[in-house]
Amino acid sequence: MTIPPDADARRAIAPVICYPPDTLPRPDMERYAAARDGMVKVDEALAPLREAACFEVPAGHIFRISSVDGPQVGDLNLWNANDLSERFYSGKTRALHGTHITTGERMWSSFPHMRPMATVIHDTLGWYGIDQYGGSVHDVIGTRCDPYTGNLLQGGHYHHCCHSNLTRALADHAGLSLAEAEPHVHDVLNVFMCTGFTRDTGQYFMKASPVRPGDHIDFFAEIDLLGALSACPGGDCSSEHSSDTAACFPLKIEIFAPAPGALEGWSSPPPNGYDGTHGR
Ligand SMILES: [Zn+2]
Repeated sequence: MTIPPDADARRAIAPVICYPPDTLPRPDMERYAAARDGMVKVDEALAPLREAACFEVPAGHIFRISSVDGPQVGDLNLWNANDLSERFYSGKTRALHGTHITTGERMWSSFPHMRPMATVIHDTLGWYGIDQYGGSVHDVIGTRCDPYTGNLLQGGHYHHCCHSNLTRALADHAGLSLAEAEPHVHDVLNVFMCTGFTRDTGQYFMKASPVRPGDHIDFFAEIDLLGALSACPGGDCSSEHSSDTAACFPLKIEIFAPAPGALEGWSSPPPNGYDGTHGR
């Protein structure tokens, strides 16, 4: 390998943001705040430790994920409740909003729909920011812990990784076999998980989540949603996952109807405006 004489100059070129978000459709945060003030709880579910739970959220409702009993991270999948082919697109959400999301940012759906599925409207961990290691909370950079990677790295067959937890929960909720449900499981929003990339080697890292019981993150459902949340076997992800070693706790999911009248004139975002002809 030959290092070119202008290597330093090439490295010194300043980066540009790939997708400046200024022209994205802006979430109406005032309206969402009005919907959240006076919201009424209509349902709840619990993701037991090292298990997942499904829940449904009508468009215009709000769902909250809360830490209970102890620090715990969760792996979240979202689908259009009426069409499982429209699902959360972690990679594009990352490209638009960065490695982690918080209040005012959105979970975007897969092609060809590509529209907001949910908007974060409240986050008690919003204070965390980006720490000295480049770590932050609620990541869209990890995928989900899964038994295939576990088998490659450690051998064995661990069945309570988030991937398998989500697969079982979706199968039970939707009346599908495990083989039918598994392809619908997708890369997650890692709720409460504190992660980043190491500066020196660019490797994905995790560290103990700053979440404490009572912390929560609230989402506005932009479309009818089916969600699945796994209480990760990594617990607070301070040491390891893909085993029964870490201390684990459940996660609570609550569904709220919006304050009466707050959503007058509001409607779900339409599917993406691209004509879909791909030039032919
Ligand atoms: Zn996990």
